[in-house]
Amino acid sequence: MFRNGMHVMITRPNETQPILHYGICPSCHAKTPFDLKGVQRWDAEIAAQLNVPPIMTVWQCRNCDTTLMEPSIIPIEQDD
Ligand SMILES: [Zn+2]
Repeated sequence: MFRNGMHVMITRPNETQPILHYGICPSCHAKTPFDLKGVQRWDAEIAAQLNVPPIMTVWQCRNCDTTLMEPSIIPIEQDD
């Protein structure tokens, strides 16, 4: 799924407090919190080629442990 020559570096942010993100996991379809795994930085040229932001946060589903990039997480819709 990735092109040759892509440089990906995952680093943890400096914050010590846990960061959670709530959403629907596209893998297990659970409404669940996601743990922040790190930040994925793409080479600016490659990001432009792929039409993705150069920096994306990476999250791990607490329900099924799948690692996902932020755009993959489905927002929870408010039902009134
Ligand atoms: Zn999941």
